[in-house]
Amino acid sequence: MSDDLELERRLEEENRRAEEAGRRLAQGKRVDWHHYFMNIAHVVATRATCDRKHVGAVIVRDKNILSTGYNGSIRGLPHCDDVGHDMVAGHCVRTVHAEANAIIQAARHGVRIEGADIYTTASPCWECFKLIANAGIKRIFYGEFYREEKVFQVARELGIELIKIE
Ligand SMILES: [Zn+2]
Ligand SMILES: [Zn+2]
Repeated sequence: MSDDLELERRLEEENRRAEEAGRRLAQGKRVDWHHYFMNIAHVVATRATCDRKHVGAVIVRDKNILSTGYNGSIRGLPHCDDVGHDMVAGHCVRTVHAEANAIIQAARHGVRIEGADIYTTASPCWECFKLIANAGIKRIFYGEFYREEKVFQVARELGIELIKIE
């Protein structure tokens, strides 16, 4: 009898644990918008062709993707992954960066990106930041921090928000 009660108690406890686990899963099932777009940027990055760094960028307005980009060679030229890097002063300069390619893709397709947000898996380099700023993008969501401190200082002056999304 006490064994039965003990079994009953354990089953109840297991059941509670399973329910709790399910609730956590259900909560986790629906990611918020910022993580949704950052997750997509990470998928975009898997197309990158320079293995020194894979970066992906997604330009978004009103929860709609306007454009995507990853770092890769100039169209028609060979990729780092095939012919090796093109190193200048410690950096590979073969690729057009992800953020620049996302802006270029919008231009090629005639998509207006003024006032949009950009999600990029790494915070922009100075060159890309300048493009982002002049494209009229006002918020930069980034994954990991990438060398350039200057970007953060100038962004503050320009009123461009930089927001880290884990
Ligand atoms: Zn490279
Ligand atoms: Zn860049």
